[in-house]
Amino acid sequence: MDMYGANVFNDYTMKRRLPPDTYTALRKTMQDGSKLDNSVAVVVAEAMKDWAIELGATHYTHWFQPMTGITAEKHESFFTPTADGRGSAKFSETALTQGEADASSFPSGGLRATFEARGYTAWDPTSYAFVRGNTLYIPTAFCSYSGEALDEKTPLLRSMQALNKEALRIMKLFGNDTKSVKPTVGAEQEYFLIDKAIFEKRKDLVYTGRTLFGAKPPKGQELDDQYFGAIKPRVRAYMKSLDEALWKIGVPVKTEHNETAPAQHELAPMFTTTNIATDHNQLIMEIMQSTAKEHGMICVLHEKPFGGINGSGKHNNWSLSTSEGTNLLDPGETPHENAQFLLFLLAVIKAVDEYQDLLRISTASAGNDHRLGAEEAPPAIISVFLGDELMAILDAIESDEPYARGGDAMMKIGVTVLPSFPKDTSDRNRTSPFAFTGNKFEFRMVGANMSIAKANIVLNTAVAESLRQFADTLEDEPDFNAALQALIKRTIREHKRIIFNGNGYDDAWTQEAKKRGLLNLPTTPDALPYMLHDKNVELFERHKVFTKNELCARLEIRLENYCSLLNIEAVTMYKLAKKDILSAAAAFTRELSETAAAKQKFLPEADCSYERDTILRLSELSAELHKKVSQLYSCLGFAEGKKDELTKAHYFKDAVLPKMEAMREIADELESMIARNHWPFPTYGDLLFSVR
Ligand code: ADP
Ligand code: MG
Repeated sequence: MDMYGANVFNDYTMKRRLPPDTYTALRKTMQDGSKLDNSVAVVVAEAMKDWAIELGATHYTHWFQPMTGITAEKHESFFTPTADGRGSAKFSETALTQGEADASSFPSGGLRATFEARGYTAWDPTSYAFVRGNTLYIPTAFCSYSGEALDEKTPLLRSMQALNKEALRIMKLFGNDTKSVKPTVGAEQEYFLIDKAIFEKRKDLVYTGRTLFGAKPPKGQELDDQYFGAIKPRVRAYMKSLDEALWKIGVPVKTEHNETAPAQHELAPMFTTTNIATDHNQLIMEIMQSTAKEHGMICVLHEKPFGGINGSGKHNNWSLSTSEGTNLLDPGETPHENAQFLLFLLAVIKAVDEYQDLLRISTASAGNDHRLGAEEAPPAIISVFLGDELMAILDAIESDEPYARGGDAMMKIGVTVLPSFPKDTSDRNRTSPFAFTGNKFEFRMVGANMSIAKANIVLNTAVAESLRQFADTLEDEPDFNAALQALIKRTIREHKRIIFNGNGYDDAWTQEAKKRGLLNLPTTPDALPYMLHDKNVELFERHKVFTKNELCARLEIRLENYCSLLNIEAVTMYKLAKKDILSAAAAFTRELSETAAAKQKFLPEADCSYERDTILRLSELSAELHKKVSQLYSCLGFAEGKKDELTKAHYFKDAVLPKMEAMREIADELESMIARNHWPFPTYGDLLFSVR
């Protein structure tokens, strides 16, 4: 209890460290986003500095989330020389609220012309500052000189503002004068732990985060003996260190268990406001990796590090909370609460249906393409799982028929109480990308390696748009309940195609989804161009989340990123095949040939069938691999020549990736034939069972 939040400038600390009026002003800014007065910032900065120094801080940093997917920090010391030749610690209000960071080395997608390399960081007072090591971390947003967002946090905050505005209109219609509505998020994080010494012998893992070769081990996840299994002592020691590091900086980690695949684990924090949850998830990923190293391990966050073994994702649990702490996706007990619940529920369903493409895009990456649709993660088709009971209620409302379990009465919105429906706990339906789990939605397509910001920006903005349309329809209606009933019925009718309660891994679903007109965007290059479709640009511009310029920049960055990643993978594969695998095959062939020759000489009637057959197959496979290596090389040359990034991305997907897969198949067969002492790197078995 002493440890939790000990290094956070949280409410408890603020109350003790700040004069009452300063505290009240800062609280107000945090709660309703009002502007912070400069005179308040002066007092806050001074108090924060003294507090941080007591905890051993010598430096401070504006901590931000550029479009690289990871966080960035530049440390400044508090130290300022004084006129008498000594030094003092200074931290001004401008140092707290504003920073300047050279933006030229961060991706900007052309937003930052080279003559204007400056980027600005601005304090996000809604996310607490904290001390890590010798540094005071100040969570900030990162913008260009002209105010365009260069990071993930700025659009996330903008989307929260849009959602708050539209949700408050709806709350008002229900006679509710809540001060704010904020999206809440709890992100469950999956990861692998591999022994560091063994990991480092796999250059594919080192350079690309995933294995590009590797024959299946004799034991994988077939026995289902890892999920929720007893945690190995070394992993338990790791989790303890991780918990402590995260608790100190106020990340409320709560749940830890083994996941499905060998060496795979999961961590889940308690949910909180979305921008804080996003900051926390970035810290979780970073500290997971640094703590692993302290324990002689590597934490692998790639979405699909091992072929044939489950990959890692992130479950983005999402709901809406009022300033009084009411969960708006909780059905409640009165007719009034039920009606409000149904409207918010349908706002989400409508949002997911209308912006399937954007949700898909928010989870698209080269790494996640290997995971989505691989029978371990939801398919690339977006659908919503509601469970049979809630579905039956919606059906009854739509068709004006009594709900079977609710007696004979028909449901009059705002008048009758929803029949209590059991939460679908028995069927957690792991196959659904977007599942309602009783009082929140769980978006399961996000990759383990990604910032959750993108997914939440889309969710918040799309739901804001549904709510805006609902409010436009309902405001000024003389008979609110009748208008509400009609709106709810219409929304169910128009958007129920997105609801699917069956098995998402089934091929039949792919066919059915096509019939329903749902999008199926299997890969990143398929999905990304949808970003600039008119309806999507309109959505983001209307809610002031992204300008068209900012969207163009983001598309550019993501396409570039996709191509660079695949290029690194291909080059790594090329080198490993040429330098390590082919030479191992040659050496083993030679050993076998010499053995056979010696055997023949010593004992002519000895059977040399093993040597002969193996040499024959090794030669065939080596020749085939050799050919594929040259083909891959020329492919990369062609890719280089492609003019625009989208054509290039498609070329990588359609020409380069299949070549890589073909190479892998050959190499994996070679691995199964070549003697252990000749094989150049640790096998899947070595990697996956490396931590005991
Ligand atoms: P599971 O059975 O999937 O583990 P839990 O109820 O334990 O479900 O929740 C998983 C995650 O969902 C946790 O991070 C939890 O904090 C989060 N969560 C719970 N309620 C909400 C909510 N209202 N909004 C957002 N996230 C939530
Ligand atoms: Mg879950």
